[in-house]
Amino acid sequence: MSLRVLSGKSIINKLNPSFPVINSLKWRTQTSWSSSNPIFITPPSTNLIITSCTPIHKAKDHVTREAPGVTTSEWDKLPKGWFWFRKWHSEDVANIFWYTAIHVLSVCAPFMFNWGALRVAVGLSFLTGFGVTLGYHRLLCHRSFKLPKWLEYFFVYCGAHAFQCGEYSKVPELKAQWFYTFLHDTYYWHPAALAALLYLHGGLCYLSWGMGMRGVVVHHFASLASYVSHIWGERPWNTQDTSTNNWWVAMLTLGEGWHNNHHAFPRSARHGLEWWQFDLT
Ligand SMILES: [Zn+2]
Ligand SMILES: [Zn+2]
Repeated sequence: MSLRVLSGKSIINKLNPSFPVINSLKWRTQTSWSSSNPIFITPPSTNLIITSCTPIHKAKDHVTREAPGVTTSEWDKLPKGWFWFRKWHSEDVANIFWYTAIHVLSVCAPFMFNWGALRVAVGLSFLTGFGVTLGYHRLLCHRSFKLPKWLEYFFVYCGAHAFQCGEYSKVPELKAQWFYTFLHDTYYWHPAALAALLYLHGGLCYLSWGMGMRGVVVHHFASLASYVSHIWGERPWNTQDTSTNNWWVAMLTLGEGWHNNHHAFPRSARHGLEWWQFDLT
């Protein structure tokens, strides 16, 4: 067991010298972040200490499934039907429009198949997928590594095309940067411009594949990590939540499926920690 701790930690330290160690109370608050929009939350401070994250035996029958610690979330306190009776903002309407549009387009896509459109959709899937996991999640939400500013903006910009509307204005560090203010103010115009480009290039066929099918696939794959990786899979790390490592989710989500690793070491840039845990990002 102690060997496991050492190997796990040494991997992290190699990757991220400022890797935080946190106590169990703070751990609880930390685990509740990743389920909600990451941009709402300020990044962790680096001077915390990990004690709660004890590794457990890897064999399936030793997997601990009891005590999912994080149940007292804000969501539990909301009254029934709050979603429909809350105050609707213009962003809510825009979101409904976009999500309806991409789902309708994705249904049309198979009826207008074209290899070129498929290639564009696959390319955009990878770009926007990296935008979500590398740009939004690992970089902005957890600050797990540093990039030159232009590259950071590039990946975040790719993520914006996956309809990940970030509340940049609520994070002072981001609010101070012109790029995030600009992206926040013009948010919906960017996917609209991409949609227009696709339509001009290849008509409804490219629009359906590049916006519709690609948007739906990236959006639902990204959700897999939050849902499936809290239900099925292995729990090599005894975190105080229900997170799991799930290999097929990891394949589909560019590494996000090693979610138990991620809950155990939220500031690790790598989510796949063992050599065999393939993490494309
Ligand atoms: Zn996270
Ligand atoms: Zn989670």
